[in-house]
Amino acid sequence: MSTDGQGKNQTPSRVLESQLADLGRVLHLDEPDLRSGLSAAEEFPFLAPPSYIRKIEAAGQPQALILQVLPQGIEMRDTKGFSQDPLAEARAAGSGLIEKYRGRLLVMVTRACAGHCRFCFRRHLPEANLRQSRVEDAFRARMAHESDISEVILSGGDPLVLSDDRLERWIRLVAAYPQVQRLRIHTRGPVFSPERITPALASALTASRLPVVLALHANHADELDDETRASLDLLRRAGVMLISQTVLLTGVNDTTDVLVRLFTRLVECGVIPYYLHQLDRIAGAAHFEVGRNRGLALVQELRHRLPGYMVPRYVEEVPGEPSKRPIEPLGA
Ligand SMILES: *Cc1c(COP(=O)(O)O)cnc(C)c1O
Ligand code: SF4
Repeated sequence: MSTDGQGKNQTPSRVLESQLADLGRVLHLDEPDLRSGLSAAEEFPFLAPPSYIRKIEAAGQPQALILQVLPQGIEMRDTKGFSQDPLAEARAAGSGLIEKYRGRLLVMVTRACAGHCRFCFRRHLPEANLRQSRVEDAFRARMAHESDISEVILSGGDPLVLSDDRLERWIRLVAAYPQVQRLRIHTRGPVFSPERITPALASALTASRLPVVLALHANHADELDDETRASLDLLRRAGVMLISQTVLLTGVNDTTDVLVRLFTRLVECGVIPYYLHQLDRIAGAAHFEVGRNRGLALVQELRHRLPGYMVPRYVEEVPGEPSKRPIEPLGA
């Protein structure tokens, strides 16, 4: 399997097709399946960084990782209840700022990610209007007269695709507002590109007066190999608080054993499991959905098998709600 998306003598589209073919073979996909995946890739391009491909090659259950990045024909199927913008974020996202919950302002500092997760809830958001300078201006304008924003969340996309310089610039800007007490980073960086986590990056993140919380998006224990663990150790030793977010996904992590392994490995890596998300009902991702009753049963089993602090909160996002909504048994 090719570990480099930009082979020297091949055009990008040929590289793409041969990478897809390699991944498809591991999954026993046939030619028509792969062909239909190519149209899904036109809508939301295939992107898997070298480090993720290495994890796939080393994984005990490679399909759990492959399914997260492999475009499949099934994405093109319309499913009732799944839409382009289920969280009603498109309008707000135009400015790069989303203020959904009290005291917390989320800033989309980039639209780019090191890899493309097929279930991504932002895959259909408009690309326009996210020029860095515009987002910065919008941020300054918002902060100038909002005195109760105590936490700023750098998100995207993935903020860790930005250079150290650009991140430092953002963090300096955020720290300049005295009402801000915490900085949060939402990222898949340590999973997709652990090599990005350098001592220089750790210093950049922690150079301001703000305590830093990093929320790591991880869905399977095989994503947390030793390279990723080392990158998390580095951040932790620099004083960054580590918490996790997981999306519950059919075929990826919808069994108790897989979730126990994931949350055990996260804690081993110094990360406290924070949220287990019900899939956002984004068009193209319906095949990943796990039913709520199944989800509740899984979480119940986790409570029997793990210490309380290792069981994340099972939540969903409902537009207009003042917080993420806990998923609870009917009648509870
Ligand atoms: C999830 C989310 C947050 C953070 O919510 P917490 O419950 O504090 O983790 C903030 N802003 C937006 C837009 C979010 O989607
Ligand atoms: S890393 Fe996050 S924002 Fe980027 S594609 Fe994956 S889910 Fe979407």
